[in-house]
Amino acid sequence: MNKQGPDALKKAVERMLSEANTRMQAGKNLDAARSYKKAAQFAEQSIELLSDADERRAMTLRATEYKQRSRSLETTGRADLGRVKPSEMPADEIVYSDEDSDLQEQQILLLIDDTPRTIEWESIGGLLELKEELKFHYGLAMAKVPEGVDVEGWQNIMFYGPPGTGKTLLACAIANKLNATFFNVKASQIVSKWVGESGKLISTLYRLARKFTKDGRPSIIFIDEFDALCKSRGFEGQLYHQQMLAAILSEIDGFANKGQRNLVMTIGATNRPWDLDAAVLSRFERRILITLPDEAARADIFRIHLEGRGLAVDHRSLSYEKLAKMSDRLTGREVARLCKEVTARMLAEMNPEIPKLVDDGLRSIQSYEIKVRPLRHIDFDPFFCDLAPDTSIKDLQNYDQWGVKVKESVL
Ligand code: ATP
Repeated sequence: MNKQGPDALKKAVERMLSEANTRMQAGKNLDAARSYKKAAQFAEQSIELLSDADERRAMTLRATEYKQRSRSLETTGRADLGRVKPSEMPADEIVYSDEDSDLQEQQILLLIDDTPRTIEWESIGGLLELKEELKFHYGLAMAKVPEGVDVEGWQNIMFYGPPGTGKTLLACAIANKLNATFFNVKASQIVSKWVGESGKLISTLYRLARKFTKDGRPSIIFIDEFDALCKSRGFEGQLYHQQMLAAILSEIDGFANKGQRNLVMTIGATNRPWDLDAAVLSRFERRILITLPDEAARADIFRIHLEGRGLAVDHRSLSYEKLAKMSDRLTGREVARLCKEVTARMLAEMNPEIPKLVDDGLRSIQSYEIKVRPLRHIDFDPFFCDLAPDTSIKDLQNYDQWGVKVKESVL
């Protein structure tokens, strides 16, 4: 068990690097390889003790880099001194072998998303009951359990419903409040980018997620477009999808807590729940429909995207209730877009000199302060004329019918 603090370990990493340099200069490449290996070990130990996600990610990349250098010195007698830059590699050029799991780790680290830190429950309009339910069940999953009592909160849930209704926002808010490490996975991207390796990648994802829980902070794996894993596009595509899906299911199943709390939680999201099969669904304790916001929720979402962003509103002419009444069947995303368009038009009206100032040069534009004015109902009128909601009545019926069908098959 490591008893050193992160600072001592960071110093040890630096010591080993300097030792490696000295040894390389003296032509003792095998000794230098050992120093790099030790530097990587100290870096890995420190990862578990670092509380800052950015620092952990940077240290993990360094550990990987030192391991590569060590391996390169051992096998070729030369150190590969280039920095590890996985994001610069074109996906189709990545060829993996068993020894390349370090590269997979780097890809996984790129999935860690810090957006949740800025998402509060208050930045999500409506969904009041659901928010309370989520707080309660994730609270249960984190709280101390009395001796001999066997109760569990939610470990794996699946959000389903039309696009743009707040599924990602909810996952972010949970992660923020639990101070969790948030792995943001878009299933379709992983499947297409990691053809043939996606199963292994998923195992690496869950392994790293578990590693990040060592300090008691949970890890949340958010898998958006979950349905992309269950679709088949030709035999090969189907096989890879199946491999990835099987890996996720076995990870979700396999890490049952034995006396210890499982701090890795999976949140799936899909717009096409009917593409998920029974085996997948049975792994998720709850399937939760996130449907269109009702009138009260829309009023709330208008407020969040106007006054919530510091924009002034003329309350004599603009009422959120009225805007909500006129925006029936819009999703949260569409309401947000509408607010953005209205705001953009107001800004263009108030600041016609901006293009000229840009022509005058950086200094002119940087010394200019943007003018704003309170928004009025009339600003919204032109946009309400041609509103065409993205979600059809038929779509809504499909979600409801699917929900009923699944409930019946579970009962
Ligand atoms: P998709 O299924 O397409 O991934 P989603 O349901 O995950 O969509 P989000 O990404 O959570 O949707 O929301 C998209 C954007 O729409 C948010 O960034 C936000 O601006 C706005 N939005 C959606 N729902 C709400 C809400 N309830 N309150 C405030 N803003 C919302």
